[in-house]
Amino acid sequence: MEAFEKNIRRVEPYVPGEQPRQKVVKLNTNENPYPPAPGVERALRELDTADFRLYPDPACSVLVDAIADFYKVGKDQVFVGVGSDDVLSLCFLTFFNSDKPVFFPDITYSFYKVWAELYRIPYECKKVDEDFRIVKEDYYGANGGVIFPNPNAPTAIYENLEFVEDILRHNRDVIVIVDEAYIDYAGPSAIELVDQYDNLIVTQTFSKSRSMAGMRIGYAIASPKLIRYLNDVKYSFNSYTLNRASLVCGAESVKDREYFEKTVAEIVGTRERTKERLAKMGFSFTDSSANFLFVTHPEYDAGDMFRALKEAGIYVRWWDSDRIRQYMRITVGTEEEMETLFAFLEQYVSKEN
Ligand SMILES: *Cc1c(COP(=O)(O)O)cnc(C)c1O
Repeated sequence: MEAFEKNIRRVEPYVPGEQPRQKVVKLNTNENPYPPAPGVERALRELDTADFRLYPDPACSVLVDAIADFYKVGKDQVFVGVGSDDVLSLCFLTFFNSDKPVFFPDITYSFYKVWAELYRIPYECKKVDEDFRIVKEDYYGANGGVIFPNPNAPTAIYENLEFVEDILRHNRDVIVIVDEAYIDYAGPSAIELVDQYDNLIVTQTFSKSRSMAGMRIGYAIASPKLIRYLNDVKYSFNSYTLNRASLVCGAESVKDREYFEKTVAEIVGTRERTKERLAKMGFSFTDSSANFLFVTHPEYDAGDMFRALKEAGIYVRWWDSDRIRQYMRITVGTEEEMETLFAFLEQYVSKEN
């Protein structure tokens, strides 16, 4: 190691799912198979590129206002960022500054550990149970904050608001973040608890249910006080986060509730049909409330299956890590994409491997 490397901040980075250049059946990063709301294209066309010479609105007002309207919360209760990864990373930096460890599940979004390491935040992973459920009692002990996704990823399991509220009740002195990247496919959002619990932050994203992963938009909803703290850190870091195109496209997307609800229902329908088809092939899986399934087969090695699928141009996600090595995470695509997947798997499970 060179001397100058001694003081370099080094971190083991998050590994995103592959974004292949060739055309594949892409069921590996939980994107939406449907295009964004039609108004988004219109908004993009109407953008005046001459304005690109000017910085965008640092307060992101058009987007903040649209989100506040949609969720019936105050404009001072909304914070937006460059994908929820940006929002979550800023939340770690802003709210997790205790000597006590931040708690999150052992099987969860792997970015949490990366941010904790990057910012040197102590953390402790709490084991999910045999059925991959989060054990709420594990979060009762002294800690420096709590974060978990609901539904959890990659397990796809949703816990109801009583569960979330129980964790909140036991953690009144720290910040609790509920990462709701997949909530629109699941059940009630913890947004309805933010007025009651001023230490709660709910984050959501445009990347999944709003079909805009490529625009990078995420947001947090919380008490005005927490939003102020987040903004203070944001303005100390990078004032102009969302670009002009993202701001107007995001706002347009939020205004079209009908399209949003229609595409969400479509995916939920396909997900439920996928459960039936996979069960017939002998797969077992957690009861997904997200736009992906977490599946295993008693007779076939998940790693082998993942590689065979990839060879056939069907990309899913697989992790070579403890406890989940025999599972694959499969994004719910269009009906047609799922038929391609089923055809491959039906063949695969009917022959000797
Ligand atoms: C996809 C995802 C995110 C991040 O999404 P962005 O594209 O950065 O908005 C955050 N948390 C979980 C659990 C996710 O699955």
